[in-house]
Amino acid sequence: MAYKTINPYTNETLKTYENTTDAELETALATGHHRYQAWRQDAPATRQATLHKIAVLMRTEKHALATILTTEMGKLIGEAEAEVDLCADIADYFAEHGADMLQPTPLATSAGKAYYAKQAVGILVMVEPWNFPYYQIMRVFAPNYVVGNPMILKHASNTPSSAAAFADVVKRAGAPAGSLTNLFISYDQVSAAIADKRVAGVALTGSERGGAAVAKEAGVNLKKSTMELGGNDAFIILDDADWDLVKAVAPQARLFNNGQVCSASKRFIVMADHYDDFLAYLKSEFAKVKPGDPLDPATTLAPMNSKRAKQKLQKQVDAAVAAGAKVYAGNQPIDLPGQFFQPTILTDITPANPAFDEEMFGPVAAVYKVNTEAEAIALANNSSYGLGSTVFSSDPAHADRVAQQLEAGMTTINRAWITAPELPFGGVKHSGYGRELYQLGLNAFVNEHLIINA
Ligand code: NDP
Repeated sequence: MAYKTINPYTNETLKTYENTTDAELETALATGHHRYQAWRQDAPATRQATLHKIAVLMRTEKHALATILTTEMGKLIGEAEAEVDLCADIADYFAEHGADMLQPTPLATSAGKAYYAKQAVGILVMVEPWNFPYYQIMRVFAPNYVVGNPMILKHASNTPSSAAAFADVVKRAGAPAGSLTNLFISYDQVSAAIADKRVAGVALTGSERGGAAVAKEAGVNLKKSTMELGGNDAFIILDDADWDLVKAVAPQARLFNNGQVCSASKRFIVMADHYDDFLAYLKSEFAKVKPGDPLDPATTLAPMNSKRAKQKLQKQVDAAVAAGAKVYAGNQPIDLPGQFFQPTILTDITPANPAFDEEMFGPVAAVYKVNTEAEAIALANNSSYGLGSTVFSSDPAHADRVAQQLEAGMTTINRAWITAPELPFGGVKHSGYGRELYQLGLNAFVNEHLIINA
């Protein structure tokens, strides 16, 4: 496996990293284990202060950190800066609330005075993807740093500079050795780390394929795991939707981060009466994008993160069309050297089409026509995935009734998907299991240690 930074706008290889040796992995595990034992004796206060320093550093160095994201995986500079801000907010949130979240919970029992404490479990392995290189790390790092679980990071092979920059901020904020060790390891070394006695669990964000492989290693070794995998989120526009609101939200719900978002709206489900108008509107909005240098704030369409990702998306669109889908808009080459993909709208996708139940990780929207609300709900639920979903109705009670019928880990009503430190993130079905962020994210890797004092 080669860890390399290739700018997807210029196609230039900016940096290549040496793979971690087995001896270096062993040193990381030994240092992490030492850190775990030291932290078992400490209250979280020092770690909370360090998390706050991390937030301050990230805000102070926002533009430089964002530039690393943009030159490495291509996202628009404004979106990269927003990612850095979000990471700082997550760090601050756990700095502020972490100690309260770790308070012991008293239990009413006739067995005596009972409570459970929330204690660290040991080293965690984090396996993270390239789409939000800092945010994906921070979702696991911040809560577990407060808990006192040291972490070993295996980031995506195309975002090593982002991983190194994140680890460097953590170090400069004063986190002791072993807190977060970024390694350039192979899949076999990930498996070896998971099997190691000193490792207590693994958190992965990525594809179903990667998730299944890593979850299997965790299962065989009886290690706890959380899996944040793909999604094919429905965006349901009910008959009584506020169309001004729908129009304000729909295009960006698909195009944010160039569509490379697990919880982006990917399937737009529209009542027959509004179907043609919605399609025409989405097409006109998609046509407004300005492809160009993602470091230029005037650019609104970034390149995709890599040549491989662009090729994969094109293959999926071609297969969808070969199976009967119609291209309503887009799918034309963009005459720039970077890995650009024109925002595309597909219609007439039948359940037999591979695109029906496949995640398209880029700027491709699938639009479906339905005749009844029941049909809309059934279509939304007819998916292997169950990450997020969105419902539009001007009657909040109506939208809530529909939301409760959706097989998803998260549903937003009358707004685009959102992530924030105080909102748990995660899915059901093939979108994975476990939650990140909020108290649920902190609970993922703690020993709920029952103590009964008769
Ligand atoms: P991958 O699953 O291939 O990669 C994600 C991470 O897992 C990378 O670090 C990758 O390493 C690693 N990985 C993959 N297979 C293994 C393995 N067998 N053992 C150890 N590590 C492994 O995903 P993609 O790069 O294709 O990323 C896009 C996918 O991730 C999309 O399908 C998207 O839906 C999903 N995703 C889900 C999110 C969520 O929060 N639910 C968020 C973001 C993305 P390497 O790069 O070296 O191959």
